Amino acid sequence: MSAFTQLRLDGVSRRFGGQAALSELDLTIEAGEFIALLGPSGCGKSTALNCLAGLLPLTEGSIWQDERRIDTLPPERRGFGMVFQSYALFPHMTVRANIAFGLRMRRLPKEETRRRTAEAVRLVRLEDHVDKLPGQLSGGQQQRVAIARAVVFEPSLVLMDEPLSNLDAKLRLEMRTEIRRLHQSLGLTTVYVTHDQEEALSLADRLVVLREGRVQQIGSPRELHTRPANWHVADFMGYRNLWRGRVEQSEGARATVEASGLRLLGEVVGGLQTGADVMVAVRPEDIRVDGPGETRNAMSATVEVVEYQGRELAAEARTDTGLLLHLRTEQRIAPGDQVKLAVDPQRLLVYQADAQTQPKRLADAPGATR
Ligand code: ATP
Repeated sequence: MSAFTQLRLDGVSRRFGGQAALSELDLTIEAGEFIALLGPSGCGKSTALNCLAGLLPLTEGSIWQDERRIDTLPPERRGFGMVFQSYALFPHMTVRANIAFGLRMRRLPKEETRRRTAEAVRLVRLEDHVDKLPGQLSGGQQQRVAIARAVVFEPSLVLMDEPLSNLDAKLRLEMRTEIRRLHQSLGLTTVYVTHDQEEALSLADRLVVLREGRVQQIGSPRELHTRPANWHVADFMGYRNLWRGRVEQSEGARATVEASGLRLLGEVVGGLQTGADVMVAVRPEDIRVDGPGETRNAMSATVEVVEYQGRELAAEARTDTGLLLHLRTEQRIAPGDQVKLAVDPQRLLVYQADAQTQPKRLADAPGATR
C-alpha cells in the first residue's frame, strides 16, 4: 500500500520561542515498519509526529519520501492517515458517513466510496454499528471509527498519537492487538506515539526513545528491553532499581561496582572512565528471591512492602546495608521476612553516571545511596 520505500527525517528540529522541543531527529522509516516514538511527557513525541503530519512547520531539517521532499507540502498533500487521542469524529454524522468522509472529499466515485467504506467497517468490526452516531458508541468503538477513517483511503503512512490513552485497561489491550492486526493485514507503515513502554514494546518493530527533544536510542523491542543505551532509557524502560555506585574494578564488558556497601558484578553498557561514578540498573523481575547457593551479587534483605499482582508479587525490600530494592517474584513473601536475593551479573547493567541528575528513585533509599 505504501507509496514509498523509505521515509527519511533528516535533522528535523522544532523550536518554540527559545525552547527546543525537538532537536535534530534523524530517522529512516522503511515501508511496512511499525515505529513507536516513546518517552516521558514533554520529550517531543507529539512535536515529531506533528512535524511529520505537516501540522507544524520545521525550524530546521527536511523530510523525504524517497527522493521527494515533503516537509514543504501542506498536510493534505502528504496523504497520511491520522488518529489522535481525541477521536475527533463528526458528532452529527453516522459511523458510515464519518468513515466515508475523507473519500467524499477526495471525490472518489460513489461505488468505490461505498466499497472501500464497507471494507474499512469490516476491518474494524463495526458492521453492526454503521448507522449509529458517535455519541451512541463506546470509547473503544469510537476509536475504531477513527482508525477506519484514517486507513480507508489507503494512506502511505498512518500517524497515531496516543490513540488508546482514553480507553480503560481492558479495551486498551484489545485495541492494541487490533492496531497491530490492521497494520499487518493492510501492510501499513505506522508511526505511533506513546508514553507507555509496554505498549511500544508490544506493538512496534522499532522504538525511538526521546528525552528532552533528543533521540536517546533507536532499536528493536529486544534491544531496548535488554540493553538500554543509557541509564535514562533504562529508567524509562522499567529498570526500577537505579543505584548510584563507584567502579572498583573493570575488565572488558564486566565491572565490579560498590553501591551502598554492596559489591556487585555487572555488565558495562557503553564504556566507563576509571574510578567512575556509575549508575547500576536492574529490573524488578531480575532480582531473584532465595538464589540457591548464589555467591555472586547475593544480598540479604528484609521485606518491607508486598503488593499482590495476580501470579506475581511486587515487593520492596531493604538490604542490610540500607538499600531499597524493588522486586517481583512468584514466591510467597511477606513483610518482615528475611530473604536472600541475587541478581545475575548479565542482568545488572552498569552505566556511566552523568553529572546532571539524581534519579528520582534515589529518593527511595534514604541515606543508602548518596
Ligand atoms: P506529552 O506526552 O505530554 O504529549 P510530548 O512528548 O508529546 O508530551 P510535546 O507535546 O512534543 O511533548 O512537547 C515538547 C515540548 O515542547 C514541551 O516542553 C512542550 O511544552 C513544548 N511545546 C509543545 N507545543 C508547544 C507550543 N505550541 N508552544 C510552545 N511550546 C510547545
